Amino acid sequence: MLMAHKIALNPNNTQATYFARASGTARFAYNWALAEWQRQYEAWKADNSLPKPSQAALRRQLNAIKREQYPWMLEVTKNAPQLAIMQLGEAFKNFWAGRAKYPKFRKKGVHDRFSLSNDQFSVKGSRIRIPNLGWVRMRESLRFTGKILSATLSRVADRWFVSITVDTEEPPKRRAENQGEAGVDLGVSALATLSTGEKVIGPKSHKALLKRQKRLSRSLSRKHLAAKAKAGLSLRQAIPKGVRLPVSENAKKARTRLSRLHARIANIRQDALHKLTSDLTRRFPIIAIEDLNVRGMLKNHHLARSIADMSFFEFRRQLEYKAGRRGGLVVVADRWFASSKICSVCAVKQDTMPLAVRQWTCPDCGTIHDRDVNAARNLLAFGLAALSRSTASSAGREACGEGGTGSGSRTGVKPASVKQEVSARTTYG
Ligand SMILES: [Zn+2]
Repeated sequence: MLMAHKIALNPNNTQATYFARASGTARFAYNWALAEWQRQYEAWKADNSLPKPSQAALRRQLNAIKREQYPWMLEVTKNAPQLAIMQLGEAFKNFWAGRAKYPKFRKKGVHDRFSLSNDQFSVKGSRIRIPNLGWVRMRESLRFTGKILSATLSRVADRWFVSITVDTEEPPKRRAENQGEAGVDLGVSALATLSTGEKVIGPKSHKALLKRQKRLSRSLSRKHLAAKAKAGLSLRQAIPKGVRLPVSENAKKARTRLSRLHARIANIRQDALHKLTSDLTRRFPIIAIEDLNVRGMLKNHHLARSIADMSFFEFRRQLEYKAGRRGGLVVVADRWFASSKICSVCAVKQDTMPLAVRQWTCPDCGTIHDRDVNAARNLLAFGLAALSRSTASSAGREACGEGGTGSGSRTGVKPASVKQEVSARTTYG
């Protein structure tokens, strides 16, 4: 199974400068290839005898001209431009498959990164060796053993990380403790509610940090407005192309503080999700969840924050690969399944169930329900019913595919996919 381990780096100044330059080269190559791709595609549309663009052809094309036109590319590893163009190929593949949006141009300072294939680096203990750069210290050693496939170095806030992809041959994890099955409702008031009645509250520090984040971004936008005024632009005016606003030292500092805070919030979130999914897959061999219609929910402003915060897709991805390692099952209920409107005791469906209603009494059987626990119980019942149907006809297993967002409203019942640990954005070669 492919596993990626992301480790913080302690580069010296020379190394950090090299990373920044290699990221710049990767970004340039990616953007060059994307522009060229669009041009060649238009040309092909006009004249079908021309070749369609491809990442392999674009790599050859760039190789042929880089010595002449972009000699500075030779100052960093040849992997930086090459793998960036391969990633563009992946981005197009994901776009055609309906998994991602049309590839965008990379921007400086936004997820700066470059990748290395396994012949361009080696790992020993808590150090990674990159040709022409020497050993770079890592904050910990690689946790997985197996064949190392590739590495991506990326900047988060003002720190550098390496994500190393390993094809592990790890022994299967112990099976779940078998505390039965669980339905899990991801919610607004709690991070998750289980059919057992448990509520998992999200990280608490979060709210205070979000407040700080608001304050910092206000302070940064004040500095931005001040810079606009200084450049003689009116406050509402868009910045004309080619005009660069002066950036004060304080603005730089504020930006660093803000991006560090973003990174910290993301870490806290990711950590909470990992704990939740590890705990669930350790305890329950069968887990039923809902296929949230995230797009619909993001339109609802009240929900937008919490859904985005909890990153449902990340939750499902983690749950599936972790269950896969223990031979467990994740059952995904139809996204139109009315998990909160049905009474989990008498199965009568209510017409409406406004989000504000956190507790209700079933008019038909008199049971007092906690909204989220009721939803989790319905999900579990739905999941178990779907499972028994699919074991009756094993064809049901084939019916679901891998689709997360796109593929309609079928119920997915499947052994948790094993190959999901490394998502499309990191695999190649
Ligand atoms: Zn009832």
